[in-house]
Amino acid sequence: MKMTIVCATGNPGKLREIREIMGSRGYNILSAGDLGVSVQPEETGATFEENAVIKARAMAAAAHLPSLGDDSGLEVDALGGAPGVLSARYGGLSSDEERNEYLLGNLSGVPASKRGARFVCCLCCAFPDGRIITARGTCGGVILSEPRGKNGFGYDPLFLLPELGKTMAELDAREKNSVSHRARAIRSFLEEMEKMFNGTDK
Ligand code: IMP
Repeated sequence: MKMTIVCATGNPGKLREIREIMGSRGYNILSAGDLGVSVQPEETGATFEENAVIKARAMAAAAHLPSLGDDSGLEVDALGGAPGVLSARYGGLSSDEERNEYLLGNLSGVPASKRGARFVCCLCCAFPDGRIITARGTCGGVILSEPRGKNGFGYDPLFLLPELGKTMAELDAREKNSVSHRARAIRSFLEEMEKMFNGTDK
């Protein structure tokens, strides 16, 4: 029986993906709602890493269980790395659709050859004894000029994976969970977990 970990996110898309990937590796992933706790720390970090640590530590303090923070977002080269850590709040807009429209507006006139971007995911698992593990994953692609696909969440419909010829939103869950920034971060995180616990029963 592997470890129970609380996922410190209110984003249903992230929670679903973390459950799918870590659940398939035998981890029991709980949400804040499952525990009846509500933790919404201010994301004051300047980097994805700092915000992931803030989220994980806040949840571990409230839940007294290993807690996983995910801070992630989109970096667009032509916009100097924006929206970056502000991805969830880009343009002060409240829905994925509005933020996608806003992003397209900011990229209008930028040719396909200059629309390179990457998704970044930083994870931090904070343990009740104060130890932490951090991990990072990235996934490169190109921002299209109109959305394609209905799966996933956030900026997925605009994010083309050139080697697959599909957007993230055109991949099914299994496909996204094998190539995404989150999948890569989780793989690296689980390697660190194995080292920390030395392959013992968790
Ligand atoms: P956070 O909750 O501050 O980490 O913000 C994450 C934001 O980045 C989300 O609200 C999405 O807009 C975007 N994002 C993160 N991961 C993904 C993904 O896998 N697909 C699409 N958008 C993502």
